[in-house]
Amino acid sequence: MNGYLGKILRVDLDAGTLCDEPLNEIYARKFVGGSGLAARMLYDVLSNAEVDIDPLGPDNPLIWMTGPLVGTAMPSAGRCSVCALSPLTGIWGESNTGGFIGPELRFAGYDGLLITGRAGRPTWLSIVEGRARLHDAADLWGCDAYETQGRVRARMATSKARVACIGAAGENQVKMAAVINDRGRAAGRTGMGTVMGSKNLKAIGVHGSARVPLADPEGLERAAREIIAGLDGDLATMSLQLAGTASVVDMALMFGSMPIRYYQQGEWEEASNLSGVLMAEHFQNRRTACYRCPIACGRETRAPSYGQARVDGPEYETLGAFGTLLLVDDLEAVIYAGHLCNVHGLDTISTGCTIALACEMYEREILSASDTEGIELRYGDVHMVHRLIEMIAHRQGFGDVLAEGSAALADRFGVPELAVTVNRLEVPMHDPRAFAGMVIPYALSPRGACHMQGDMYGVDIGLSPTVELGIVPGDRLETTEEKGRIAARHQAWRSLYNALILCQFQNPGVERLLAALNAVTGWDVGADDLLPLGKRIVTLKRLLNMRIGLTRADDRLPELLLRPLKDGGTEGRVPDVEALLSGAYAEHGWHPETGSPLPETTSDLGL
Ligand code: SF4
Repeated sequence: MNGYLGKILRVDLDAGTLCDEPLNEIYARKFVGGSGLAARMLYDVLSNAEVDIDPLGPDNPLIWMTGPLVGTAMPSAGRCSVCALSPLTGIWGESNTGGFIGPELRFAGYDGLLITGRAGRPTWLSIVEGRARLHDAADLWGCDAYETQGRVRARMATSKARVACIGAAGENQVKMAAVINDRGRAAGRTGMGTVMGSKNLKAIGVHGSARVPLADPEGLERAAREIIAGLDGDLATMSLQLAGTASVVDMALMFGSMPIRYYQQGEWEEASNLSGVLMAEHFQNRRTACYRCPIACGRETRAPSYGQARVDGPEYETLGAFGTLLLVDDLEAVIYAGHLCNVHGLDTISTGCTIALACEMYEREILSASDTEGIELRYGDVHMVHRLIEMIAHRQGFGDVLAEGSAALADRFGVPELAVTVNRLEVPMHDPRAFAGMVIPYALSPRGACHMQGDMYGVDIGLSPTVELGIVPGDRLETTEEKGRIAARHQAWRSLYNALILCQFQNPGVERLLAALNAVTGWDVGADDLLPLGKRIVTLKRLLNMRIGLTRADDRLPELLLRPLKDGGTEGRVPDVEALLSGAYAEHGWHPETGSPLPETTSDLGL
């Protein structure tokens, strides 16, 4: 199997057993890898289960999966998916992380891991040169994510080992807990760290020297050289190199895409204090990169006022979630908030959004100091934000309530309409009133509101168009069925990215990507095959969620995002959700009224 190691490690933490299992070649060809292949594996588990699976129960399989490009010479393909049923949302959960852990897992001999059960005591897993072992992690329990990585690496007796772990949030089963790896890289969304914590699995360390078998090594080198050369003069690449993902802050503010005051304010002058250029000037130590990535969008920063000489990040999402959303314009304080999330293993988007919702509820007098043990929840109060992050991670006091996430908080106090979530996942920092095409990845993404399965803001400003596939830039405010179709095609395209797995900042175009993929795998994939591959994955996840109980009625936007703002880049505009959905259903081959995949669709896709 060129492009694959051909092996999955099955870990049963109940029994303490480890065994190799051949990778299902038919599944790999149909679902590629990453979250596509993981969804197929989870679907089998759900089909065979006699009762509903509790996301925090031992039967919920935690699946780590790489893809065929991972660990090869393909630039920016050093990623790894972490998937399971989500304890935050109750539906399909997935998140992918960069750094080096994905490639190193392959070098250690495996395409992926399938972990079930619950260890009787804290445990960590090592995989070195194809040999896996479970170890006692009692003395690691309670260590933060950075300390854990260092201690596990020391035990593996090689500085080249790569480690992924949970912090306090995962240990305490905070619903938005992340898996942290390679210092501050994170599989943040949908609570995959929570699932790891529920299994008493503190860390995974991997190291090895295996190499991915390639059908045409020279062809891959040639394709990689062309892809790297193609980055020269590329505007998006230059911006990412200058200021990381924070480079988009100014532009996002101009378009009204970066949400302010819990998605309810169109303009805020102080937001410009959070710009990527200011961060680069005042707080940046250096750029960092994932495995074989010439873009190097990562940042190492500092927060001297908080005694931090070396901080990983923050990303644009963190600047939104702890900055504009909460009316905090102190850049250093936002950097420190992101650092606290890395240390404790928390998703910055869900954590920032939940705190912002609490501030909104406090302002509306739905919450009072008697609910919060005397803490005043005021927009703009950085000390309150830092304190609440700690309290959430440790489930202390009111932090225990917030640890359940935004949807649960709003439900608890009888105001579900205030939660800016889709299918209980907090909405990222890209307002769909500013880029109407974002309605589709938010309303239809199988993991809830998601910017990683159809970044239409990138398409409409011309940064990642794939015109050959009918993914064409257009009017960002257009809210028609045709726009819905384009967004659905982009959803399929990005779902394929998440299966390969390729970083979404690497956009080499169809021809170069095909050259690399075929050189790695020996497949003969053509441009016409790409969208059907992506659509198969999207529809599989749709079927999986419908099996759990989602319906057409769950394809929606939160109420606050359907209210027009008085000023800013979206002034007076709200997208026509039904028109966009109608186009997307047609593009995906789903029933216009029930939203279910049509029989001919499942048949055509081989599902
Ligand atoms: S562009 Fe950034 S996130 Fe993507 S692979 Fe490169 S360094 Fe990692």
